[in-house]
Formats: sequence, C-alpha cells, structure tokens
Amino acid sequence: MSRNKPAQPKEKGRNAKPAAKTHPKAQDRKGTFNKAGQPSAESIKAGDRIVVTIKRIGINGEGVGYYRKKAVFVHGALPDEVVKAMVTRTEPGYLTGEIIEIEKKSPQRIEPPCPIYYKCGGCQIQHMNYDAQLQAKEEIIRESFQRYTKLETLLIRPILGMDNPWGYRNKAQLQVGREGKDVIAGLYAMGTHRLIDISGCPIQHPVVNRVIEQVKEIMEELDIPEYSERTRQGSVRTIVARVGQTGGKVQLTFITATDRLPDSRRLVEKIRERMPMVITIAQNIHKGKSPLVFGNKTVTLWGEEQLEESLGDVRFALSPRAFFQLNPEQTVKLYNAVQEAAGLTGSELVVDAYCGTGTIGLWLAPHAHEVRGIELIPEAVLDARDNAKSSGVDNARFYEGRAEQLLPEWVQRGVRPDVVVVDPPRTGCERPLLDAIVQSKPKRMVYVSCNPATLAKDCQVLLSGGYKIEWVQPVDMFPQTSHVECCTLLVRTQ
Ligand code: SAH
Repeated sequence: MSRNKPAQPKEKGRNAKPAAKTHPKAQDRKGTFNKAGQPSAESIKAGDRIVVTIKRIGINGEGVGYYRKKAVFVHGALPDEVVKAMVTRTEPGYLTGEIIEIEKKSPQRIEPPCPIYYKCGGCQIQHMNYDAQLQAKEEIIRESFQRYTKLETLLIRPILGMDNPWGYRNKAQLQVGREGKDVIAGLYAMGTHRLIDISGCPIQHPVVNRVIEQVKEIMEELDIPEYSERTRQGSVRTIVARVGQTGGKVQLTFITATDRLPDSRRLVEKIRERMPMVITIAQNIHKGKSPLVFGNKTVTLWGEEQLEESLGDVRFALSPRAFFQLNPEQTVKLYNAVQEAAGLTGSELVVDAYCGTGTIGLWLAPHAHEVRGIELIPEAVLDARDNAKSSGVDNARFYEGRAEQLLPEWVQRGVRPDVVVVDPPRTGCERPLLDAIVQSKPKRMVYVSCNPATLAKDCQVLLSGGYKIEWVQPVDMFPQTSHVECCTLLVRTQ
C-alpha cells in the first residue's frame, strides 16, 4: 500500500463561496457570529468544535460535509452521518476535522475486521460495509466528472467488485524492525517513523501472511539483525514475499543494507524445511538512502531466478524487482474492459502509452495489427519485450521514453494510431500528449486511470478536442481502500 501521506484535498470548488455577510448585531467579543449564533466559516479556528452532516466520501476516503457552505473533510466519517468534529486545519477553501462524537450513525458503518485498522492507515474505508464501499467509489467518480468537466450526463457502469474483497494482495513488502526481542514487519504509521507490525493483514494473501510470520520466527531464532536507520547497523531492511496465482508458489526477497546477510546458509535451510511453497530466496542489496525499496543488485541465494505468472494468455517471468499487478483477479476484469473499449478487428495500430511491463499492449496484441508501447523506465521496457517473447507475441514493440514526447514525435512523422490507450500515474497525462491525441484523431481513446480527478480533467481536454465519452467502467482493484480504477472509452465525434 502506498504509505505516502494522502494529498491534501483540493476541493475548493463550487461550494466554497464566502459565507453570508454577518449581521452587525450578531457579533460578540469572541469573533464573528451569524444570526443563528454559529461562527461563520471564516472565523473558525483549529481546535473549534463544529457539527457536520456528511454528504459523501472524498477521494482519500474521508467523509465530506459542509460547514456554512465550506467543505469539511472528516477522517473516518460516513455519508449521512452527523458528527461532532474538532477542526484540525483551516484553509481558504476547506476545513479538516477529527471526529469527537458520532451523533447520528450510518447503517453502513461496521466494526473494521482488522484489529489495527485505525493504527495502520493502509486501508481507509474498512469501517464501511463492502456494498457501501462500492457505492462510494462510484460517487467519487461521478463527483470528479461533475467538478472537472462540463458534461450534463455520463454513463458510469456499475463498478466491478470482488466476491471476496479480502486476502487479494499478492505481494507484501514490509519494513523490518524489532520490538524487544520480537522481530516485527510492517508499515510505518501514517506520517511517522513508527513501524507497525501488520501480521495477519486481512487484505494480504493468506500464503503471504504465513510466509512473513515464519520468516520473522526464523530471523529471531538465528538472531539475524534487522537494519536500523538510526544507528546504521544491522542488515535486513525489508522482506518482500510475492505469491503466484497458480500453485501458490512464493518468491521471497530479503533487502539488505549491506552485502552481508548474516547466517544466510542456515536461513535458507530453515526456510526450505518449513516452507515448501517458497521457490526463490533472493537477496537484494540496497545500501544508499534512496527512498526506493529495492537496490540495484539482486542475488539468488537459492531456487529459481524468476516467478512464472500469467494474466489470461499473457505470460510473465518476474524477477524479484519486476512490477506485477497486486490484484490479478481484478486486473483481468479491467483488461477485459480495455479490450471491449478498444473494439479491435485485427487491422489496427494501437499505442499503449505508459505501458509499464507491457501488460495492456500484450493483452490487446492478438486482436490488433500492431501495438507500440511507450514506457519511461528502461527495465520495464526490457521486461515488456521479454513478456512479449514468452507470450509468443510478435506484433508488439516497446519504446523507452516519455509518452508526451514520443507520441507527438510519431504524429509529426505521420503515424496515425487507430486506438490510443493511456494508463498514466496519479498525476494524469501531460498536455502535449493529449494535444497529440487530439491532433492525430484516433477513432478510440481508452483511458485507464487510478485517479478520478486527473481522469476527469484530462477528459475535459479531450471532450473539447472532438471526443465524447461512451462509458466509464470502474473496477475495484483495492477493496477496503479508497482507491478506484476506471477504464473510460472516448470516441471521436468528427
Ligand atoms: N499499463 C501498465 C503500467 C501502468 S503504471 C500496467 O497496467 O501494468 C504507469 C506507468 O507509467 C509506470 O510504469 C511508469 O513508469 C510510467 N510512466 C510514468 N511517467 C511516464 C511518462 N511520462 N511517459 C511514459 N511512461 C511513464
């Protein structure tokens, strides 16, 4: 799970008009009061207490209500709840608050199944039942399109959820630390350097949880030292366990701060004895201070170099560092939506921009004439080429570069894609890419997005450039979190 502090909500928007002028007689020494005796939104300070009715779920999973027309973001509050909140932050466009008391509780509220949900922060909406989560995600999308486009109507298809929205994450990447004698493995609590052990995390695949537990035990038995940022002593920084979809095979990687992994021979022996599902034990060395999890050097201590994976007919051989989708079951649903949106007949030139390890392009290649992928990270481009080979795809080429540079260059040289697929990071597409798409007039444009706000903003550019939105298909890739993925089909109108 991304442990970055969620971006501060930027929902100044429509509802953030200045509060009504105060009647002169309604003022007292404490500040500006309105007729009803409630402070105006402008005079609210951090520490004040206010009562808010929650209207919807915001993009980071918080409850959003209004205090005298100013948006208030209340962490942990649900739609239709009335909460007494303490104001924690005041900005010109919005307030943030913390719940003091829930005066009216939502029937959607449940006891979060995870005992450390409120400490961890990896999930944001475990306190809502799953149907309500799905509904909230659809609302988040609708709200974003209302805010950032001029559309009057929009077809949002029912979100594709999971039958069992637990145990879906196929990879754990956990920092290692110690609490007394116990080795702990987990995530840093939101915005802190305090490590929280997440044993038995309910969204993690159970096999991954089992492996992590046993690895902690073995590290304790052998007294293998964890790395300490503070003293710069010790070895193991992070353990990464990834389970394959078929057969439950596990790739296990120890990321160490030095070349030395003490007692690695006995470590390997004990892992092999106790965990037959582990097929690779690797060490990755990350000496520097960079915030990246993996370092450049990986050695296989025992077992196979790569984990075999597949999505539909596309095959992957994953080295420990290689990216792979965290929720393969839902990824297949997403890619099926992409394929439907692309509407391929076999004659098309498809551009897969932000292609990563080539997954979407390889999914589409059997139905297209040619696929050209564009990806910034050189290793991912190499992986994409390997994946094409192992999947027997010979009509896909992968190019290293920036989508906003390469596509405009191609278009300038006369390349005219029939379908463009984009799957950008949360920041969305750069303007030169959108302009190049508008200029080259592909019949279909498929926008895969993990951020409804940048999706809607970019769609507005395409709408002004001669496209219309046929449909938006949300997919719940990360149940229990506020993340939502969408596949949007835009078609050319002129
Ligand atoms: N489509 C892929 C990966 C999507 S993640 C999949 O489904 O697996 C977004 C990808 O965009 C990342 O691999 C990232 O490295 C890449 N990226 C980020 N900025 C880019 C840019 N300006 N041009 C091309 N690729 C970029």
